[in-house]
Parts: sequence; structure tokens; C-alpha cells
Amino acid sequence: MELTNYNDIRALLSRHGFRFSKSLGQNFLTAAWVPERIAEEAGLDEQTGVLEIGPGVGCLTEQLSLRAGKVLAVELDKALKPVLAETLEGKENIEILFGDVLKQDLPALVKEKLPGLRPVICANLPYNVTTPLLTAFLEAGCFETVTVMIQREVAKRICAPAGTPDYGAFGLFVQWHCLTELLFDVPPSCFVPQPKVTSSVIRLTRREEKPFPVQDEQLLFRVIRAAFNQRRKTLSNALSAGLGELSKEQAEKVLENCGFDPKIRGEAVELGGFVKITNEIAGKLFSNL
Ligand code: SAM
Repeated sequence: MELTNYNDIRALLSRHGFRFSKSLGQNFLTAAWVPERIAEEAGLDEQTGVLEIGPGVGCLTEQLSLRAGKVLAVELDKALKPVLAETLEGKENIEILFGDVLKQDLPALVKEKLPGLRPVICANLPYNVTTPLLTAFLEAGCFETVTVMIQREVAKRICAPAGTPDYGAFGLFVQWHCLTELLFDVPPSCFVPQPKVTSSVIRLTRREEKPFPVQDEQLLFRVIRAAFNQRRKTLSNALSAGLGELSKEQAEKVLENCGFDPKIRGEAVELGGFVKITNEIAGKLFSNL
């Protein structure tokens, strides 16, 4: 059986009485080149242990298993249990775990299930939980790369440089932890059922070291969130409104001390600039401004 063939998938799923769930983001691939190319881009070899989220009927799982040492696939929908038992039968380097990946202790899971292997993530993600999933992957800190398909709109935000309309707080969070690459697009016609939006595959590569030395990482993300919560305001207004402990005048002074125009907007400031601003604010907060 070809795991991306539309008719084969339809027949398989109807034989098992399976119904697609919108709330689980179930859009299964029906174009063979897509899982092949995603698996190819994940940079796998015998030493790699892949965590896949949501195997569906197993088309990407199969491609990953051909290239990696082991694939651990976590699937929330138990209705896919008999389906996967049939499609992935006899593939010895695949383990399927049924449960919610968002409820897993990822570093502990990797240690237990992918011991001695270089851990990476590769998946066609359920789009309704893209942000919490990517946040969990980056916060786990143990994955060398994350190669995933997500909505094009979110992919563009993650990879956006300063000064562009897509630039924002979530992209900066991802860019703080990883190097980001937008690899290729996949049209809705490659899925069953077809999603309303275009998809993109991105690769995130964990940074060995943080890009800039920051005094207080939590404060950095408070500063970034404050800057983009009120996107249309000047950065000094947004910072004093969002941080609480800083007046508008103090915020303007901080920006001036960092070499910025006090009327600059957050979207014009690069990651290194936010680090500079954060370190300046941290110094001031310690001396009670
Ligand atoms: N990998 C398959 C493919 O490419 O055809 C299916 C991808 S589909 C976009 C997303 C999959 O994630 C579905 O199988 C869905 O049941 C599963 N899923 C959704 N939420 C999940 C969660 N929280 N934990 C684990 N799997 C989840």
C-alpha cells in the first residue's frame, strides 16, 4: 500500500471506521514527494533518533525510518492505533506512543526512548497547536534540529527579519534559540482533507550559544512582548505601558543610551538591539532607575 495514495488512504481509513478530526488538525499528506523531501531535509543518519508528532497513517514515519536510527512517533488519536499497526507492521526501528505530546516531559522521553542517539524532531504538525508545540520543543533544549511543516503564515513570522510586517515576538523567541530556515511550500492540494491555507516546511537549528550575552533572559522576553503588544506605538510608549516599572521618559532615556532614536518602533529593532535595551533596563532596575 502506498501511504500517500489518496484512494489507498480513503479505503484504509474507511475499513477502520476512521473519521477525520478538525480539532486534532488532521490533514494527511497525499503527495509522495512531500514526506520524502521533509525527511531528506531533516539531515538524518543511523545515529539520529527522531521524535515525530502525529504520524497519521504513517507516510512521514515510514520515510524517517528509512533514514534514521530510530523513530519515536507520538499520536494523540487512539483511533489510528489499528491503522498504524497495519501500515507500519514489521518496521523495527519505529515505536508509536499514544498520548498528547504536549503533556510529555520531552527531555525524559528522549532519554528513555532514544538513548545514545542524536535527538531531532521531524513532523507535519497539527496546525492548531503549532505555537505551544514549537515553544515546548525549544524549551526542552535537547533537540539539535526541528524540521516541521506548519502554516505558511506562521513560518513567515518565525523566519521574519526586523523591519518586515511579519516580524514579531514569537519569531524573536524562536530566533533567540535557533537559526531559522524557510525551506519550501506545500499547496493545499497535497492533503486530505485539504486545508484552507498554504503550508511551509521550516528547519530550526539549535544555537550552541545564545546569540548575545543578556543579563536577564526573562526580562528580554518581557521587553520583546511589551514592544509588540502595542505594535503601532513608539517603542518607548510600548515599554512604559507594558513593563509597568518604567516611565515614558525613562524608556526614552534607555533607548537614547542604547543609540536608538527615542521615537523608534519595536519592529525596527533587531534581536541584538532588544538585548542591548534589556541590559540597559536591567542595570537601571537594579539601581532603582
Ligand atoms: N504525519 C501525518 C501526515 O503527514 O500525513 C499526519 C499529520 S496531521 C497534520 C497531524 C497529526 O497530529 C494527526 O495525526 C493528529 O491526530 C496528531 N495530533 C494532533 N494533536 C496532537 C497532540 N497534541 N499530540 C500528538 N499528536 C497529535
